[in-house]
Amino acid sequence: MNIHEYQAKALLRRFGAPVPSGAAILSASDADAAIASVTGPVWVVKSQIHAGGRGKGKFVEAEAGELGGVRLARSAEEAKSFVQQMFGRTLVTKQTGPAGKQVNRLYVEEGSAIEKEFYLSALVDRTTGGVAFVASTEGGMDIEEVAASHPEKIHTIAIDPATGVMPHHGRTLAKALGLTGDLAKQAEKLSATLYEAFVATDMSMLEINPLIVTEDGQLRCLDAKVSFDSNALYRHPELAELRDLTEEDEKEIEASKYDLAYIALDGTIGCMVNGAGLAMATLDIIKLYGEEPANFLDVGGGASEEKVTAAFKIITADPQVKGILVNIFGGIMKCDVIANGVIAAVKAVGLQVPLVVRLEGTNVEEGKRIIAESGLDVLPADDLDDAAQKIVAAVRGRN
Ligand code: ADP
Ligand code: MG
Repeated sequence: MNIHEYQAKALLRRFGAPVPSGAAILSASDADAAIASVTGPVWVVKSQIHAGGRGKGKFVEAEAGELGGVRLARSAEEAKSFVQQMFGRTLVTKQTGPAGKQVNRLYVEEGSAIEKEFYLSALVDRTTGGVAFVASTEGGMDIEEVAASHPEKIHTIAIDPATGVMPHHGRTLAKALGLTGDLAKQAEKLSATLYEAFVATDMSMLEINPLIVTEDGQLRCLDAKVSFDSNALYRHPELAELRDLTEEDEKEIEASKYDLAYIALDGTIGCMVNGAGLAMATLDIIKLYGEEPANFLDVGGGASEEKVTAAFKIITADPQVKGILVNIFGGIMKCDVIANGVIAAVKAVGLQVPLVVRLEGTNVEEGKRIIAESGLDVLPADDLDDAAQKIVAAVRGRN
């Protein structure tokens, strides 16, 4: 689960990390109070969306101006005009995709006089099975580009979970960033603070880009991106409340209510499959025959008729879907349950697009019989290859 920058900063502040003061603007009426709470002389107005690259982003609407999603204002009046320009507009950044994201929240914070910008993140490192810091002197820019062009400028500091963060980790971090004296001490303290916050809240990623040195010699977290491990959220009900559903795909939210593993994709063929491996094979074979899948969907091993109906509704609600492929191997899952689920769903929502069903495994004959006798316009398939070719042909026949 991802959260907004202002929420991440509030969390880090609670753990004692150096974060500039600021106030969130959740509705237009919050603007005056939020701006007044920041003393200036520079106010930074920041779009709050779950995507990076906001500074260099562009708004779709001309009224929002050309200045990007993070703006420096020299007066409270200017800050106010930025708020009015950005609120409710659509920001396109390198990470949002071409459609962009609507800015429904803003954050106004005190401007910092920046001397240097660094990159610092903490993540779960699969090779060591522990938390690692990743640091670079090349902050404020795209870290993937730095990793590709100057891999020697990326430093990884692995932390043993048995000891947790130790002073030597902090010293290594300071050295990696070229910090000495008091700034090295601040870096050491920051590493301990961030590690504590990371572990205590079950984060899966924490990215500070940029971490800055101010002109008066202070380390500060100027940006903060936090993701939590969703499997651990049950331990943190207060963090679950930070979830912003407007940032998530509606179909994915609906799927999560039914415990369906669903990921929206860009193509035209909706897929309903049981088992993650079979689902991936299904996406591959659709691509092999020249079309693109509209989603990944694993209905799971023991899906009920209700779950199958919900899955089918989610797929058909997607206007991009021009055809549906149901591919079920009945192991624990029984083919007749799937057949009944599909029929119930088709009856409930109607079928506007071609539907190919491939069933195999437990109760397959019963499943096929139910579908054949349903009177619905379903194209049966013998195997995965046949199914993929049939749905691709059906989708193309419609174009
Ligand atoms: P993003 O990574 O989404 O572009 P950032 O929060 O990193 O957003 O902001 C982009 C840039 O704007 C930063 O690299 C920094 O140069 C500048 N900036 C952000 N916040 C402040 C601030 N409080 N004071 C001064 N400059 C800021
Ligand atoms: Mg940033």
